[in-house]
Amino acid sequence: MTHENSSENINRLHPEINSHYKKFKKPLPDADRFIKEIRAGNREYLSRAITLIESSSPSVRKLADEIVRKALAYSGRSFRVGITGVPGVGKSTFIDKLGMNFIERGHRVAVLAIDPSSALNKGSILGDKTRMNNLSKSDRAFIRPSPAGGHLGGVGRKTRESIILCEAAGYDRILVETVGVGQSEIYVHSMTDLFLLLKLPGAGDELQGIKRGVMEMADMIIINKADGELKDEARKAVQIFKNALYYFTFRNTDEIDVMAVSSMENSGIEQVAELLEKKYKHLLESGRLEEKRTEQLVFWFEESLNELFRNYFEGNQLLRAERNLLLDRIKQKKITPFEAASKLWDLFIENSER
Ligand code: GDP
Repeated sequence: MTHENSSENINRLHPEINSHYKKFKKPLPDADRFIKEIRAGNREYLSRAITLIESSSPSVRKLADEIVRKALAYSGRSFRVGITGVPGVGKSTFIDKLGMNFIERGHRVAVLAIDPSSALNKGSILGDKTRMNNLSKSDRAFIRPSPAGGHLGGVGRKTRESIILCEAAGYDRILVETVGVGQSEIYVHSMTDLFLLLKLPGAGDELQGIKRGVMEMADMIIINKADGELKDEARKAVQIFKNALYYFTFRNTDEIDVMAVSSMENSGIEQVAELLEKKYKHLLESGRLEEKRTEQLVFWFEESLNELFRNYFEGNQLLRAERNLLLDRIKQKKITPFEAASKLWDLFIENSER
């Protein structure tokens, strides 16, 4: 069967996929065609496949699942780096410079993002091409904004699947950015090999507002904007962080590097790239990378289960109504949260046995 024939079949069998993708003004190819084009470096197909992943239509998801499943055979051979920091710390400037450094070393770079605000509203700021001047012009870079809409866990899953597709497309340095809000850091940490925390030099109050959980995840703390008047502050901040690491993490503090850079002036970025490569090599050779990625598979299995349960509960009218009633009773202190959860669970079991 030729690709054209099989895509015609898919279009006939799944009219809703076709109407969903009318905007492409082309018939929707089948999974094999997607894989072939993605493997050949066709960015349009890569983008389209990621759009399929982001769709909420079940039949589109089915095709997306098939593409991801087929892409798995070509995935995994990249270095995945997570990057977090508050808005304005300089993430896009840093990623632009780090990404270009990787490209100069002969790599191909994909930039993905998890924007916690995109889960709530439809906007997505992170990973916007316009924020990364040099990378956006490079044909060795692929930049994709955060998926929008839905629960944050769903946004996380979509980004994780996008990593697989980018790897199948030959991108071997994957940068995933997020901002320091809630679960989004946990998700990025759970899909990357090393995790970087970007900080600003700040007159000795660096340690205020630091979340222990984030320090627990960080493999590298990078003080950005070490230039102009902030240069000395940045040097001091490095020392303050090095001294304080012990109080913030149960991990071996020797594993955590603290460095100052100026993303704007491109100073220190070469050292960051060098150190990242060294750490990656160590992870690979020690077998730790394999171990980490296996732990992440378990994390995503549990996340996916949670998401399925949540979707089921939210999608079922009876359960949703009962849940709201129980919530009211909890607030009125008429029932304990544990009792309420068991009641809802019993109703779920009854409902699913019917
Ligand atoms: P993001 O919100 O974390 O992505 O931060 P941006 O990369 O957009 O940077 C926020 C602002 O900080 C911009 O005006 C950048 O030009 C500026 N900036 C970024 N990196 C540096 C740096 O290393 N030094 C200085 N002085 N400014 C920087």
